[in-house]
This record gives sequence, C-alpha cells and structure tokens, in this order.
Amino acid sequence: MPGYHSPQLDVAVRLNTNESPEPPPPAFFGELAEAAGSLQANRYPDRQATELRQAISEHHGVQPDQVFCANGSNEVLQCLFLAYGGPGRAALVFEPTYALHSHIARLTGTGVVRGERTAAFAVDGDLAKELLSASAAQLGEREPSITLLCSPNNPTGNSETRSTVEDLAGAVPGLLVVDEAYGQFSSWSAIDLVRGGDPAVAVVRTFSKTWAMAALRLGYLVTTSEVVKACSAVSLPYHLDAFKQQAGTLALRHEPEMRARVARLVEQRGRLLSALFDLSVEAWPSDANFVLFRVPGCTAGEVWQRLVDQSVLVRDVSGWPRLEGCLRVTVGTAEENGRFLEALGRVLRP
Ligand code: PMP
Repeated sequence: MPGYHSPQLDVAVRLNTNESPEPPPPAFFGELAEAAGSLQANRYPDRQATELRQAISEHHGVQPDQVFCANGSNEVLQCLFLAYGGPGRAALVFEPTYALHSHIARLTGTGVVRGERTAAFAVDGDLAKELLSASAAQLGEREPSITLLCSPNNPTGNSETRSTVEDLAGAVPGLLVVDEAYGQFSSWSAIDLVRGGDPAVAVVRTFSKTWAMAALRLGYLVTTSEVVKACSAVSLPYHLDAFKQQAGTLALRHEPEMRARVARLVEQRGRLLSALFDLSVEAWPSDANFVLFRVPGCTAGEVWQRLVDQSVLVRDVSGWPRLEGCLRVTVGTAEENGRFLEALGRVLRP
C-alpha cells in the first residue's frame, strides 16, 4: 500500500502543510540551548516525561496522569489505534477529513465506517447517531470502538459545535477522539469535556502548528488516566527523547507569543479570504490557519501546477471525498500571502 506523504518541492513559498510561517521566539532558542547543555545524553530519558506532562497539565487545568505525549500528534493517533483499534474493530470518520485517520486505521487493520457531513462540512450529529445505532447491524459485531472528529477540520477549516461533540460523546459506544491540531484557532475546546469528567473523550493536540515546532515532532493527548495508561502500554520504551521533553516544557512558557502569532494569522486569513472573494474564487470560511478554495473553470491540478511554476506550493486536495476541484492554502506571512495572491491572480488572468 502507498504511504501517506504530502508532496514536497523546492519552492520559494511553501503553503502546503499548515505549519507556522514564523519560528518560535528567539528567547526560546536561548533557553533550549542552555537546557541542552545539561542534558544527560548518556542516560535514557524520563519514561514518564514527568516535567513535560506536568507543564501541559497546568496549561490545560487537568492532572498530569491525564496527559500522554508522543512524537507528533500522528504518533498519538497511532497509539490510540494500537490500543483501541485492530482487527475485528472499527473506526468512524466523517469525510472529508484529515486523511491520516483512515490511513492509520488501515495500517492497524481497523475497519473504517464513514459518516456524513452537511453541505457546510459540519458533522451531522443526528445522522451520526443514527449510524451509530445502525452500525452494530451493518458491521456485524464491529461497532466503532473509535469515533474521530477533527475540529477545526482539516482540510475544510470548520469547527464542530460544542453541542455536536457533547451529543456524540454521549452516543459513541467507545472512545470519541477529537483531533484539535488547530485548536487554538477555535473559540472552544473539547478539553472542557475532559475537564468536566467525560470518560469517552480524548483530545489530540500538537506543538507542530500554533507552537511553531513542527521540526521537533511533539504532540499529546488530554483524556482520562485510563486511556493514558492504554496508550503508554502500546508505545515503545523511551519513545520520547529528553531534548524534545525539554523543548515542549520551555515552549509552554511562551504562550503570550503563541497567542500573538495566532492573532497575526487570523488577520492574514481574513485578508486571504477577502482577496479570494475579490478574485471570484470560491473559498470556505475557516477557523484554522488554512483556507479551502476552488477556482471555477480550472482543474485543481492545473491551478496547482501553475502556482508551482511561480514557486508557490499549495496542497491539491481534489482527490479527497467531496472536494473535487479543491485546493488548500496555508496562511503564511503577509509577504508569502501576497506572493500567493499575485501568483493566483496570474493563473486566473494570464
Ligand atoms: N491532525 C491534523 C488534523 C493535522 O492536520 C496534522 C498535521 N497535518 C496532524 C494531526 C499531525 O501533526 P503532527 O504529527 O505534526 O503533530
């Protein structure tokens, strides 16, 4: 089977993988260099990632035993599937959504059930509940042991409402995993439900996007201590290196800078959306750091190639369910967004 990879090309403007266009603040690197100087590199790292989990738990107002960390949120998702998926079990996903969810399901031999979204790409709670009650019959004994939401959803950009998530948490037969890789752009978080004691909810977060640390590969889960134990049981020994544990702990001290970065991106996202509207390009509202768009009269492949010809890389998502003709552009710096808009303008009016 093919692996999951976003095509990477050597271009001037990379707007294809939803990273932060800005690095972490300079003070973070000074602190990290100092911490690196006293790392005990000859010893295995703290298997419990005690300091990091303490810092994350304080950040979210939960207990340290409710936090599980891994090498990027992708590895968190993989651990969830290793623990709760597998042959004879199924995961419920709502397409179009982050393609890695169903990819990891396939890798772990977990069946995939697909639920519906509304025209605006929201999860339809009523249809989902109907499906959940029918799924036992549909799948033999394989009711979904994992139901996945992505909020804000990649690649459509919309967040799920609190009531949809609460409703589903009450209806799922197993675990409700809410992937909040772009959570800081949303007006609410399902971590509220975890804090409120909901045993079915597991929220996935990452340092790769708003924390501007994609290269360091760190993600985590906020959930019940029981789910944390299950994920720890399936993770490899010492999977989280000491340098990364330090990096995550130190990054959290720079929350105000992270919030300021998010605010700048939200402003730039507004600029992109209104410029796309002016260009008569179809674009969807977004609660994240990317925008889904479609150029009337052109195939996505043509638009993608003509942008690449001008050294601008976006993501062609036209092969994903329900997204015929669509592309996804990450919100970059003001300059990068300007170059993208100029290049797109030339695609439309050569
Ligand atoms: N979840 C979603 C919805 C994403 O878009 C991404 C990154 N593309 C991830 C998880 C994975 O991020 P990482 O492994 O870098 O934490």
